[in-house]
Formats: sequence, C-alpha cells, structure tokens
Amino acid sequence: MAQLFSKKELYSIRNDISICELISNGLQITCQENGGLFKFQCPECNGFSTGVKKEANISRCFQCDKQFNTIEITMAALKLKFIDSVTFLQKFKNNPAHKSQKQKDTQAKDQHDSIIIDRILCLEKNVSVLTGYFDMLRRNIDQMKCQISQL
Ligand SMILES: [Zn+2]
Repeated sequence: MAQLFSKKELYSIRNDISICELISNGLQITCQENGGLFKFQCPECNGFSTGVKKEANISRCFQCDKQFNTIEITMAALKLKFIDSVTFLQKFKNNPAHKSQKQKDTQAKDQHDSIIIDRILCLEKNVSVLTGYFDMLRRNIDQMKCQISQL
C-alpha cells in the first residue's frame, strides 16, 4: 500500500494540534479545565479519571489505563479508522472553520456590536439633522413673530 501520509505530516498531526483543543473543539468531547487540570470524558469507558500531559500532547485515562495521542483519541471518539482520523485531523489543523465555538461566538458578537455601533452613529447623524431642522423652524417662527408684530 502506498504511503498516504509522510512521517513529517504524522509528526505534525501528533504534535502541532493541541490535544486539549482537539478534545474540546474538534471532537466535542465533554471536558473541563479546573485550576490548570484538564479532564475529559474517556471515549472508551466514559469515565472522568483522565488527564493530559500537555508537554507530550498526550491524553490519558487512568480507568482504562490507556494513552491517546491526537490520532488515537480521534479514532476512539469518532470510531474512525487510522486513515480517516488522520484526514480528519489534517482538516482540523488546516481549516480555520474548525475554530472553537467560543471564538465563533465572539466573532458573531463583534459583528453584532459593530452593526449596533453603525446604527447608533446613523441615529446620531439623524438627530443632528433633525436638530438643524428644529433650529431652522425656530428661526422661521421668530421671523413670523416679527412679521406679525409689524402688521
Ligand atoms: Zn477510559
């Protein structure tokens, strides 16, 4: 079988994708980070006796005594074969659309905020135009008063 992925590519997939980022955003595994300790629901036994070694980019379940690198946890969580898992991870690594939901929410919020700011600026402009009209009307009224008093 032809070599589908280069060693370099596999190395990069194991090391350049943060295991925590992958677990929480890529694989949408239930997880929590408490005081710097990252825990996730083990895809094998569903237990929470888990942890990650951030410096080795490896996750681990103490209950099933298993270690998962990025590829292994993808295989376990998505029930994918090796090749499909690596393909998934290549996409995850390269595609900015795989940004975390949080980042997407922030972006959407920023966009929403900028729309609101635009609207406020537009309203302010309208108010200043209206203020101009009122000044003009007031001047007209004053002129009319003058004319009336001269009648
Ligand atoms: Zn487990």
